[in-house]
Amino acid sequence: MKILFAASEAYPLVKTGGLADAASGLPAALAGLGVDARIILPAYPEALDKAQAKDQGVALGDPLDAGETRLISARLPDSGAPVLLVDCPSLYDRPGGPYVDAKGHLWPDNHLRFALLSKAAAMVCTDGANGWRPDVLHANDWHAGLAPLYLKQALPSVFTVHNIHYQGLFERKTLQSVGLGDEHFTVNGVEYYGKVSFMKAGLQFSDRITTVSPTYAREIQGPEMGEGLHGLLAARADVLKGVLNGVDYGLWSPAKDKAIAANYTAGRLKGKAECKRSLQRQLGLAELADAPLLGMVSRFTNQKGVDILLDALKGVFGLGCQLAALGSGEARFESALSSAAAASPKRMAVAVGYDETLAHRIQAGADMLLVPSRFEPCGLTQLYALKYGTLPVARRTGGLADSVVDVSKGEAGTGFVFDEATSEGLLGAIGRGVELYKQPKDWRRVQNNAMKQDFSWRKAAREYMSLYKELLL
Ligand code: ADP
Repeated sequence: MKILFAASEAYPLVKTGGLADAASGLPAALAGLGVDARIILPAYPEALDKAQAKDQGVALGDPLDAGETRLISARLPDSGAPVLLVDCPSLYDRPGGPYVDAKGHLWPDNHLRFALLSKAAAMVCTDGANGWRPDVLHANDWHAGLAPLYLKQALPSVFTVHNIHYQGLFERKTLQSVGLGDEHFTVNGVEYYGKVSFMKAGLQFSDRITTVSPTYAREIQGPEMGEGLHGLLAARADVLKGVLNGVDYGLWSPAKDKAIAANYTAGRLKGKAECKRSLQRQLGLAELADAPLLGMVSRFTNQKGVDILLDALKGVFGLGCQLAALGSGEARFESALSSAAAASPKRMAVAVGYDETLAHRIQAGADMLLVPSRFEPCGLTQLYALKYGTLPVARRTGGLADSVVDVSKGEAGTGFVFDEATSEGLLGAIGRGVELYKQPKDWRRVQNNAMKQDFSWRKAAREYMSLYKELLL
């Protein structure tokens, strides 16, 4: 079976969040099941730099009048997984991120950048690339949302929602510039409150829709979380399924992680204490072995509940906790967190930016990982935390609800779950964590339980295999 996996990012070529982990993790797991899965993504400079075994590329012409385009075949470093890089220098060859420039402003031609990704994916589906043609197109998030529309049902397609909040909304005239007729500007097409929604195209024109957890699949069918697309999602409920994302334990495992100060296992946790000490030292925190150290690795946005954490800081310190946060995002959150850390440098450290190594070191060195998200399609950091014996403090929403079991559930407990998206809710859960932390034997038992959880990609890959098979019947 051959699958083309279209996404705007894939680890380790380019990553801003969980999508990149999924875009490399799922195809790798599918390959383990004998599927020929190839990833297609834009040839951003960093992706071109890091990709291995690049060929000369084949010419795709200038499909959107945006510049000459080539399709380069290459491989991911380490895993060797095959990738196709859509090389259109006029759209992608510039410094900055996949979505924003160095100042954090959205690229003004994002509609073209991602329409071209979608168009190239559809062209590979219909014309092939180097003689390779997939059986199924698997498009991800709004960046690849137009692909099922361009494809015009030439092949079966799956569309996965990683986050319904980001929809790729553009002006009506965009349709023409991405080679689509105005007839698509209807309620049953891609029109969304007077704009064009690339996300809606994916939802409307794909054969199957998935999202990254069963709870989120239910949530987005309601007005509170559906971001205006709940009606469409509810109407397509018969083809909508939630499949929980997985973890690449080759990268995220305290027993072999090279980024952390010492390796450890559930049976030998000495190394975890060393990871904590080393993290405290690196971040300038007081080197207190017994102060519960809370970690957070996150985009600093409203979704992630950063304001909830900010409101809870006094209480966090009152409980004797330390806090190590890594992330970037909205300037107001970056500066509020940084000022709080500057005011209490022995108790709180904030690293603003993107730092893969520090992300691993926080997962290993912290005692608890905070995930106070308002909504969370799947969430990966809590899955990593479980494997590192760092008990998640998580809101009961989306994939968090599907992966963290509150300690009140007895033997099954792996963390501290709370319902209200408020600082009181968060503090209540942290408080319960601190109480348990004071009982080392009980803490160890829950830690052990957390580390035993298996969220590997294999399970998700099997579910996707059945889905693809259904489409090919
Ligand atoms: P989202 O995709 O909504 O940002 P997820 O929890 O699904 O959230 O995935 C986040 C991924 O990005 C994880 O792999 C996490 O470790 C990583 N990450 C987030 N912020 C940073 C950062 N500042 N530095 C390094 N890794 C980060």
